Amino acid sequence: MTTRLSKNFTLAELTVTNTGINNQPSFQEYDVITDRLRRLSVNVLQKVRDRFGPTKVNSAFRNEEVNKKVGGVANSQHRLGEAADIWVPGHNLLTVARWIEKNLNFDQLILENYVGGDGSRGGWIHVSYRQGKNRRQVLTKPKGTSSFSKGLPTSDADAAVETIEANTGKLAAVAAGLGAVLVYMMRKRK
Ligand SMILES: [Zn+2]
Repeated sequence: MTTRLSKNFTLAELTVTNTGINNQPSFQEYDVITDRLRRLSVNVLQKVRDRFGPTKVNSAFRNEEVNKKVGGVANSQHRLGEAADIWVPGHNLLTVARWIEKNLNFDQLILENYVGGDGSRGGWIHVSYRQGKNRRQVLTKPKGTSSFSKGLPTSDADAAVETIEANTGKLAAVAAGLGAVLVYMMRKRK
């Protein structure tokens, strides 16, 4: 049976794990956890999905065993069902993170193990949501470092490359246009 948390997100997606361990909430915590995952889905994940399209969840809820296995801290918001690590194929992580920062209510937004690009080469957006008390804290941790800095990067290497490519395309179009004008003028001279 599929337990749906929002239009496009299911409990199965938000309890996914690559540890091979059964990652279901225990019977005692099931209702509390699914309520939190539902709030995270409705208030954050679904809104990202509606704006950018199909969104990948690397990890969201972690039960005690999974959390230990991945070396998560005991008070991790993943453990509570309040956090998800996500990325959107084809959309730059920084673009998505900036949109979340500007448009959504959240507790913590972390650009984690950031290497640029959309997340297919690594890196993800950790985002959490709490009922009632959201801090709106924004942090960045570049890949290969262990330090978190406040806020999001001001630019992205990949985004810069995309801009240069777009501008090169425009220049080529301008050059082609100039060429056509020259040909026209030379013809006119004859
Ligand atoms: Zn996370």
